[in-house]
Amino acid sequence: MSDSRSGLPGAATFTCSIPDMECADCATRVERAIRPLSGVLDLTTSVVGQRVTVRFDSTRLDADRIREAVREAGYTAGEPREVDEESVSVWRDPTKIRTILSALLFFSGLVCRLLLPDPSHAPRWVGHAGLGDGLLIGAALVGGFNFFPQGLRALRHLTLDMSFLMTAAIFGAIAIGEYAEAGAIAFLFSTAELLEDYAIERARGSLKALMELAPDTAVVRRDGLELTVVAGEVIRDEVVIVRPGDKVPVDGVVVVGASSVDQASITGESMPVYKEPGSTVFAGTLNHEGYLEARATRVAGDTTLGRIISMVEDAEEHRAPSEDFVRRFARLYTPIITVAAVALMTLPPLALDADFATWFVRGLTLLVIACPCALVISTPVAVVSGITSAARNGVLIKGGNYLEQLATIRVVTFDKTGTLTQGRPHVTRVTAHGNHDETDVLRIAAALEERSQHPLARAITARARGLNVPEASDFESITGLGVRGHVLGRTYTVGRPELFATIEPRPDTGDEEATRVLVGDEQEIIGSITLADAVRDEARDAVAALRRLGMSRLVMLTGDNEETARAVAEAVGVDEWRAGLLPQEKVSAVQELTGQYGHVAMVGDGVNDAPALVAATVGIAMGAAGSDTALETADVALMGDDLSRLPYLFTLSRRSRAVIRQNVWSSILIKFSLAAGVFPGVVSLAAAVLVGDLGTSLAVTANALRLARTHS
Ligand code: ADP
Ligand code: MG
Repeated sequence: MSDSRSGLPGAATFTCSIPDMECADCATRVERAIRPLSGVLDLTTSVVGQRVTVRFDSTRLDADRIREAVREAGYTAGEPREVDEESVSVWRDPTKIRTILSALLFFSGLVCRLLLPDPSHAPRWVGHAGLGDGLLIGAALVGGFNFFPQGLRALRHLTLDMSFLMTAAIFGAIAIGEYAEAGAIAFLFSTAELLEDYAIERARGSLKALMELAPDTAVVRRDGLELTVVAGEVIRDEVVIVRPGDKVPVDGVVVVGASSVDQASITGESMPVYKEPGSTVFAGTLNHEGYLEARATRVAGDTTLGRIISMVEDAEEHRAPSEDFVRRFARLYTPIITVAAVALMTLPPLALDADFATWFVRGLTLLVIACPCALVISTPVAVVSGITSAARNGVLIKGGNYLEQLATIRVVTFDKTGTLTQGRPHVTRVTAHGNHDETDVLRIAAALEERSQHPLARAITARARGLNVPEASDFESITGLGVRGHVLGRTYTVGRPELFATIEPRPDTGDEEATRVLVGDEQEIIGSITLADAVRDEARDAVAALRRLGMSRLVMLTGDNEETARAVAEAVGVDEWRAGLLPQEKVSAVQELTGQYGHVAMVGDGVNDAPALVAATVGIAMGAAGSDTALETADVALMGDDLSRLPYLFTLSRRSRAVIRQNVWSSILIKFSLAAGVFPGVVSLAAAVLVGDLGTSLAVTANALRLARTHS
């Protein structure tokens, strides 16, 4: 997926938290306020995260001007907000106090009306200062204060906005003496807003749970002393001490001790993983029985967990297609219904001489139904819920768009090495040609491979351990083919036979089901190294499960030779394989399949397949907890090294899409049925707020939270 954030000198990014941007309607207003500023390049708002991220040309615009625009639109522009901020206690939040007070006034008003006889038979708009009416007006004003200021600002900017509609409805109702209606709107709408907040808070809550994985403190060794410090203040290369039962505070490499560590929080693996000196440990994982000392390699927000959290936070900004649809829909829907509402208030009384008060209330009811809030939150709550549920199962989905696209995938392509195979090959045979001996072949190959990150390279250097491996210079990595460099005065190449195409006769590449790399200089091939890499235990089952999920094509793409490719393909049960591919050819293969079948997912490990991961509709990386490239390039990252997450991932995405659809269509349907019921007077104002706003918001949120229960 291409990233528009790159390039352009002077481009800067600014994130501004907007704590009072609580509804997609507000988000639209914020967008409208910022977009026209000159110098704005790109803009995303997050309702769940309550912030706006602006990419802008810093030579023409600055952060202060953006903050000012946010304020002019009527919102608070705060500092980038920490998601784990404690939410304000109910008793200190004025919105909540007003809502509760409004409810109390409203109900006591109703009770008074029922119990106290109405003293006056004068026309209502003359006003009779009955206690009940007073209480109801009080309810309307107190509750209404939650959105009056916003409504007036909207009026000043001549924008149609929820707060404005509600403000107008309340004053309209008071003006015609419909005090109960006025009170009901104020109290119910305030409650709906609160519940919407709560819903979003719940969705965000799962992200909070993710953050709570990281321990608050760490024990470090400084100047020979053991000090307890704030986890975020551990410095790189410092040694942290992890006692039995402690959580690991930073990413690091074990230097002392051995223990098993529960990494489920990061990788989703249920079995603890054994750690010894040299092993990598991750922040947020739980140390079991042993004592460990680890040298910090990544600290504070830079740890794997930290990056997962920030990617999940940003995920909402990659909007799901459904959300765009809903927003476009709301942009049409709200004005149309509003116009209809005004027509309803005025036309029947004027044209048909119908009762003004009756039609005025019906118009107001339609105004309430014009509020798109429940509709607009229907998608983001599902997206956030799906993405955080995935994160807790060791799968990082970087955007709502990917979550939704995953559900449409019918073709999955796999890289071989490190993806379908364990990526831990070992040398099975070394052969020497001419007057060279096997040790020479291995020493020379290892000299070059020491500089490479490829799994084959690790196997070769491991095999050469103990031999006297010379230094290499002028090292060069020929991506997807092999490596080249200067060893002991000559230029040697290690890798695929194609690299030796000019040397005659070309040695036979063997027809064993194993990977064979050749070692040679410019004139001759001095030997070859044969390596075997075991197929992952879970690969066959995962492939079968994907087929059961209805995938129409499962394809393996590999840079390895035909024989190895066939053997692995048959072992795991894919439909098709393509061998001998260079990284660029893997891209073409993905593109070709995309042309043929539509959406294609590519599963890889980030080694020699990053371009293909980018080219695929959705790029899925394996073992991302251990690989930066994988974590950065992929759209979806399986943090653990476990293919059996794939069926879970596709199941989750399909369920998410189903929930999104249910939410979108049921809220549209509810809105329209309510609207239709207004004309004959079947739907009362209270019912409209109760069902159309409050009820629908709750229902879509509850539906979305079901996704949290999708297990792998
Ligand atoms: P895959 O597509 O199976 O993941 P790669 O594209 O990573 O495989 O590599 C393809 C082939 O290129 C390997 O099978 C090997 O023959 C050769 N190769 C790549 N890198 C190296 C290296 N560092 N040393 C030797 N051979 C290499
Ligand atoms: Mg690979």
